[in-house]
Amino acid sequence: EERNPGEAEFLQATWEVFESLQPVFEQHPEYVEQGILERISEPERLIAFRVTWEDDSGNVHINRGYRVQFNSTLGPFKGGLRFHPSLTASVVKFLGFEQIFKNALTGLPIGGGKGGADFDPKGKSDREIMRFCQSFMTELTRHIGPDIDVPAGDIGVGKREIGYMVGQYKRLRNASEAGVFTGKNPDNGGSLIRKEATGYGTVYFVEEMLKDRNLSFKGSKVIVSGSGNVSIYAMEKAAEFGATVVACSDSEGYIYDPDGINVETVRQLKEVERKRIYHYLESHPNAQYGTNRSDIWKIPCDIALPCATQNEIDRESALALVENRAKAVGEGANMPCTEEAVRVLVNNRVLFAPAKAANAGGVAVSAMEMSQNSMRYSWTAEEVDEKLLQVMKNIYKTCSDTASQYGAPGNLIIGANIAGFKKVADAMISHGLN
Ligand code: NDP
Repeated sequence: EERNPGEAEFLQATWEVFESLQPVFEQHPEYVEQGILERISEPERLIAFRVTWEDDSGNVHINRGYRVQFNSTLGPFKGGLRFHPSLTASVVKFLGFEQIFKNALTGLPIGGGKGGADFDPKGKSDREIMRFCQSFMTELTRHIGPDIDVPAGDIGVGKREIGYMVGQYKRLRNASEAGVFTGKNPDNGGSLIRKEATGYGTVYFVEEMLKDRNLSFKGSKVIVSGSGNVSIYAMEKAAEFGATVVACSDSEGYIYDPDGINVETVRQLKEVERKRIYHYLESHPNAQYGTNRSDIWKIPCDIALPCATQNEIDRESALALVENRAKAVGEGANMPCTEEAVRVLVNNRVLFAPAKAANAGGVAVSAMEMSQNSMRYSWTAEEVDEKLLQVMKNIYKTCSDTASQYGAPGNLIIGANIAGFKKVADAMISHGLN
């Protein structure tokens, strides 16, 4: 706390990991002797920079850009860029810290990083987005590269923004972008299934967890918060697995459709028309709209998939889920449940799939995009989807086995934290003090 004053989100994320590691330190005193905890929670590099841009009316705006290059022990720094007004150094550090362990769990050779800007893309014209991305990249370009740091998308950053950033990178470097960004348009070096990967992967992981208890998505009622990249494809895959998705949301409110949300309508509204979620009611008059976002968790469901943002399920929402006898919660977003919410869910035996394991499918397919770019070759959608499924099954098995090995069978939070940490810590020790 003394080293990171006022960084609430970062402290929340580090405490959550460190709490689970007690049994590891008892068995492995070398981690303590070598100062692994102190080293792993200190970023290798934290870059903050000014981003100046001009809107369509000629007004000048200043935003703050960030890139945290947290840990490169296992490979190039890897993690998304977020454009959202709430972005601070604390949020970037919490996301970058989580990313280290998530990336380790995929079993692929990638280190952990994260970045973005406190820029609000909402309501901006296409040209304004382009000018912002170009200005942002003018600085970021000097810090990244295919073997150094490979950014991707996150909240507010999709293939349009990635496209503008790739364009500026090429201009400044006089180089091909080969492998310096992931989440690119599949027509331009992007991997098939990358867009779908986080949502699909979350559902694959949760299905594995349910299978262990003889449960399944089939015939279940599901709530998915958000209606962005992760949410849309989590809804699509859950429906494909035989579930009825009854509700989703955006930052202004939620929709409840007892007939089952029509995912194609949501995709059209959000990905193509960039409209608010309440427009869904225009074509689905049976649905209802609520303006209090957190009321979404009061709708009875079997499985809840929070896929919007951090700390969206608090204690009260967790209690509502328990009261309605929800069987499982799978974190599609990063840290969507507060510490208190997690405690309520776990104590009430709700199956819990933690973010760093459940949503690792996105970064796993990003690593596959890097491989395809290096090979100058692309795999078919079926090939990538099959590899994604295998990665998610492996992550589930690793977390579940590790939890049992450390005396907490079924506790995937402990399993994910310990398995991810050990992989990075052992590699750090082999590299000596640095
Ligand atoms: P998007 O920007 O595509 O979508 C975010 C969605 O969440 C939007 O519907 C947005 O609504 C909504 N939202 C944002 N803030 C809030 C809020 N405070 N309350 C309720 N809803 C909110 O982002 P992604 O889908 O890419 O990311 C969602 C989460 O998943 C993040 O936590 C991200 O870090 C995590 N994640 C993403 C990965 C990826 O591959 N994209 C990989 C791993 C994790 P609105 O449209 O109104 O802003």
